Amino acid sequence: MEARKHLIHWLRDAHGMEQQAESLLSRQSERLESYPDMKARIDRHIEETRSQAQRLEECLAKMGEDTSAIKDLGGKITANMGALMNAASDDEVVKNAIGSYSFEHFEIASYRALIAAAEVAGEEYIAEVCRNILAEEEAMAKWVEQNLPTVTEAFLGFETAGMSGKR
Ligand code: MG
Ligand code: FE
Repeated sequence: MEARKHLIHWLRDAHGMEQQAESLLSRQSERLESYPDMKARIDRHIEETRSQAQRLEECLAKMGEDTSAIKDLGGKITANMGALMNAASDDEVVKNAIGSYSFEHFEIASYRALIAAAEVAGEEYIAEVCRNILAEEEAMAKWVEQNLPTVTEAFLGFETAGMSGKR
């Protein structure tokens, strides 16, 4: 019974986290001008993120929860990362890449906990949904990890050429 209660709570937190992810990623994508590869990868992850929120709603419905007026409980947890990102600055592409790296790892940790909780609660379907979402977060985290140095070098290259590559 306790495991079910916490599982529901953490599914709601994850849903709030995904809503915040969508807004952070959308604002990043809208502003990016000089980094087409990053923009394309972010746009792909926006689609994944929307689908993740829907899959979490299905999990909550399966747990008997009303999802018609779902509240954003995850927003506070990740507010600091949100503050780091989406702040207009002369190096925002680098700041956003650092923020994205942190955010994706926060998501990875959240889904690992959710998978364990779903298994304890005997909710194998929910554990499987969360494993699938986890794989998407790990792929995005890997992409950011591999591209953060490239983006930083490109940003500095723009500066050296007397151009602005801030976004
Ligand atoms: Mg996500
Ligand atoms: Fe993500």
